[in-house]
Amino acid sequence: MATNAANSANHLPYFFGNITREEAEDYLMQGGLSDGLYLLRQSRNYLGGFALSLAHGKKVHHYTIERELSGSYAIAGGKSHMSPAELIDYHSDEADGLVCLLRRSFNRPPGVEPKTGPFEDLKENLIREYVKQTWNLQGHALEQAIISQKPQLEKLIATTAHEKMPWFHGKISREESEHRILLGKKTNGKFLLRERDNNGSYALCLLSEGKVLHYRIDRDKTGKLSIPDGKKFDTLWQLVEHYSYKPDGLQRVLTIPCAQVGSGNANTDFLPPLPGIHPKLYPSHRHLPADSASINPYVLQRTRALMGADQGDQREALPMDTEVYESPYADPEEIKPKNVYLDRAMLNLEDAELGSGNFGTVKKGFYKMKKGAKPVAVKILKNENNDPAVKDELLREANVMQQLDNPYIVRMIGICEAESWMLVMEMAELGPLNKFLQKNRHVKEKNITELVHQVSMGMKYLEENNFVHRDLAARNVLLVTQHYAKISDFGLSKALASDENYYKAQSHGKWPVKWYAPECMNFYKFSSKSDVWSFGVLMWEAFSYGQKPYKGMKGSEVAQMIERGDRMESPEACPSEMYDLMKLCWTYKVDKRPGFSAVELRLRNYYYDISQ
Ligand code: ADP
Ligand code: MG
Repeated sequence: MATNAANSANHLPYFFGNITREEAEDYLMQGGLSDGLYLLRQSRNYLGGFALSLAHGKKVHHYTIERELSGSYAIAGGKSHMSPAELIDYHSDEADGLVCLLRRSFNRPPGVEPKTGPFEDLKENLIREYVKQTWNLQGHALEQAIISQKPQLEKLIATTAHEKMPWFHGKISREESEHRILLGKKTNGKFLLRERDNNGSYALCLLSEGKVLHYRIDRDKTGKLSIPDGKKFDTLWQLVEHYSYKPDGLQRVLTIPCAQVGSGNANTDFLPPLPGIHPKLYPSHRHLPADSASINPYVLQRTRALMGADQGDQREALPMDTEVYESPYADPEEIKPKNVYLDRAMLNLEDAELGSGNFGTVKKGFYKMKKGAKPVAVKILKNENNDPAVKDELLREANVMQQLDNPYIVRMIGICEAESWMLVMEMAELGPLNKFLQKNRHVKEKNITELVHQVSMGMKYLEENNFVHRDLAARNVLLVTQHYAKISDFGLSKALASDENYYKAQSHGKWPVKWYAPECMNFYKFSSKSDVWSFGVLMWEAFSYGQKPYKGMKGSEVAQMIERGDRMESPEACPSEMYDLMKLCWTYKVDKRPGFSAVELRLRNYYYDISQ
């Protein structure tokens, strides 16, 4: 899989991926080198950047397109653009510093896909290893972490990936590096990289005609790496890649990496401590890296800059950093009670209410577990509620929740029968999504996309396990952090019978009709597809910062509007890709409406695209 940067250009017919400058020149030559003929390729020295190759006067000119910290693209010193495609459009009308206008694109010949760099394949494995080790995850929990946090993880490892490369020998002396290179076959171009000090400076050691040459690799103020007067790179692996295809000032090109002493198969079974940057959020967490002392301050700084985190701040917490990413019962030392009933003596309730409803109240509490007191949210039935139907409702809700285990769904810890009936759940401290967004207008579109993508992952899980939620709305999405959402409120949810893909309600109930699909209203039929409709409304709520959908309208008026074929308008400043997806969720016919696996994939791709 290509980088995110490449992803956002992969659909462009004139994008060639990770090809060299010379390959670009060959292509434009094939195209006749006419003035204004151009193509786009991935930058080989700047993370997330591109290069534009443009023919003029029978020569090819190359321009670096840097990705700025704000996320926009610009040719050094030039105007900023939202995407490389937009930049290209702009320069079709304005030379603005280029040798000439972009006149005609040179497109990939049939069968030629954008080229992926050698690092790309490695990267997938690196991310997996990194997540596995940093958070001690496996199986589904591991896969879900990678899918939901891919952009953040890529940035984390991009600056540390060299540590896994066979040519990276860590902190060894100059003498030791010579000794290692001169050991065994003396092939010209044999090389290794070593760390010189803790200030982010390295040395490239290269064998040429029996002699070992040492080139310093320094970091400039902005964190870019280069040999003296050489080309600048964001990462060591890009530098190595570059000097492997042209000497560009070195005595010769790099050919074969000098193998590590004592490691047969390069570095595959060896993983040095990666810079574990973890938030202070949960200091007691079991996943803290053992070797925090190995954090390289420069890598850290650079990583922070790339992640757009505030200077001097911890990086923002990932879902995996929190206590509620995995079930407490995923820990083999925590024994799950045989039945779901919890001991009242282990539960401490606080007075303050988190929320309330007809059923009673939701309070914060602490439940004593092996690893300490766990913050919980407790749904408490009103005592004066002697109606057994209300108790049964709570038990049905508990029964559904008990069967679910996913990072993006609020988990039940158990139920407790004491002074009242109580449902004990994981705590999602920041509360309902709609209220959070009403109070936090500064939250960025990318952040909202991240959250609704997580909701789609939780819903995909429900769909796969044949549960219908039936009350999916922004008020029932709770936030653990600003970057971590969980689906809650399973009061109306149903497990589907094995021979049906929908649930048929007997009669109209107290329904959230503005979130309901036409088949729910007309035929009382509820399926994952009708949850998809509700998800569209949820997306609308999220991108309008918690506004009420169909404001001022009665339920019956909404139904008429939908039957007429009208739909809500796009929230202000909502990306068109997201509004298009909402409208797709509001497809009238159930069979034509996408399921959550398709919806999740659309959101995933869009999220990756905007968050390189
Ligand atoms: P209802 O069926 O009345 O909608 P909910 O399950 O949605 O009940 O809970 C009502 C409110 O209680 C929520 O809007 C939220 O503010 C709070 N709440 C519920 N569960 C949690 C939780 N796990 N963590 C934090 N707050 C919660
Ligand atoms: Mg609710």
